[in-house]
Amino acid sequence: MREYNFYEVEKKWQKIWEEEKILRAGDFPEKKFYVLVMFPYPSGDLHMGHCRNYVIGDVIARKKKMEGYDVLHPFGWDSFGLPAENAAIRRKIHPREWTFKNIEESREDIKKMGILYDWDREIFTCKPDYYKWTQWLFLLLFKRKLAYRKKAFVNFCPSCKTVLANEQIAHGRCERCGKEVTKKELEQWFFKITDYAERLLKDLEKLEGKWPERVIEMQRNWIGKSEGVEIDFIFEENKDIKLKVFTTRADTIYGVTFLTISPENEIIKEIIKNSEYKNEVLRYIERSLKISEIERASILREKTGVFTGKYAIHPFTGEKLPIFVGDYVLAHYGTGIVMGVPGHDQRDFEFARKMNLKIKIVIKPFDSEIGEEIERAYEEYGIMINSGEFTGLDSKNGIEKVCEKLEKMGLGRKSISFRLRDWLISRQRYWGAPIPIIHCENCGIVPVNEKDLPVLLPEKVDYIPKGRSPLETNEEFMNTTCPKCKNKAKRDPDTMDTFVDS
Ligand SMILES: [Zn+2]
Repeated sequence: MREYNFYEVEKKWQKIWEEEKILRAGDFPEKKFYVLVMFPYPSGDLHMGHCRNYVIGDVIARKKKMEGYDVLHPFGWDSFGLPAENAAIRRKIHPREWTFKNIEESREDIKKMGILYDWDREIFTCKPDYYKWTQWLFLLLFKRKLAYRKKAFVNFCPSCKTVLANEQIAHGRCERCGKEVTKKELEQWFFKITDYAERLLKDLEKLEGKWPERVIEMQRNWIGKSEGVEIDFIFEENKDIKLKVFTTRADTIYGVTFLTISPENEIIKEIIKNSEYKNEVLRYIERSLKISEIERASILREKTGVFTGKYAIHPFTGEKLPIFVGDYVLAHYGTGIVMGVPGHDQRDFEFARKMNLKIKIVIKPFDSEIGEEIERAYEEYGIMINSGEFTGLDSKNGIEKVCEKLEKMGLGRKSISFRLRDWLISRQRYWGAPIPIIHCENCGIVPVNEKDLPVLLPEKVDYIPKGRSPLETNEEFMNTTCPKCKNKAKRDPDTMDTFVDS
């Protein structure tokens, strides 16, 4: 292949500029332009996708240069993260060595493409002078209570022995190794992105006409706002325990014949405390947590569940509603508990059929009747029937009326639910920016002082995955003093997800 001689072309342009007196870069120092492209992972060789991507930025940078702008067009490497670590483990060489070898090769490829970057401004997210700022950003979010720690069921890849974000799972399998993803309960760090759900949604309006409508719609679905009602179902045995349910269809409340709790929900421990079905429920939960969420949510999968032996009370009729645990209910769907309305929700219908539960019809179509025996749930709006004082109402208006009554009883309130979840950012892996937190027996969770940044990633660590953080094996790294009380304390052994770096 004949190499494209970029310097020859550049010389030709220089001549044209001089002869035609076209404006030159830097002619107007106050005209500044900043072009930033997405940095690549140096996880292997560059491919045509990279080429296509970086040419776009280059075209813009060159055009602006010709227009007399002082152009800043830097480049860098998103060089922490699982791809580098996995490749290093397979080849038994240090992730750093492997990463920088790839960077050298990729940099040469980009230079051959003739793309104009300010190479003296090249950055590496895996170098301390960069990840100091990744850690600084973490501390800022921590101080503003937007970074927090909690015990959570997390997606876990048994083969990579690491926690995965939802975005790192494809069809229930680990994006990296293809093994099926399961669940594990661990203390994790989160960024509280849900605080911004409403603003994210609102600002999508600003992108109309600029982004493809399809992409805006995908973003909207990802945020997944739904307006509805939160209803408290009181536990029969202990009036202090409320099973909170989120629904967009409060008009179907008279059709509730059971409740189903997701297997992850903590409330189950209280419900089954003295139940004769306790062991059966615990076995079911253990099995469920091994099944991927995608599979659990699949409409094609046969519904499964287990009776807890306990009941909740219907807020209007006082009827006893059996409480089940069922894995078709996902922990983060609304409150993780659903009111079973088999007459008007297809998944509840299938569950009720399987478990031989009552099916009540409480909504009928506007222009026809509906029989007692149905073949599938009637999910549309219509006229409320068999619904006490609400019978005869248009079901859309019924939602409002039912909510008013629940509010008066102190058993319900209007509520907004988002599909968007807080961002789980901690990883039990080596090749990432250490989380700048110290765990002290006296003071609890203490942030590292800003002046002590960066918290350096130690060079010598056994990074072969063992299901816990590799940094825990390095005592020199782990043992430190508490910034507050000066007593002996431990560092946080986790590193940050690579998306935090970029
Ligand atoms: Zn302390």
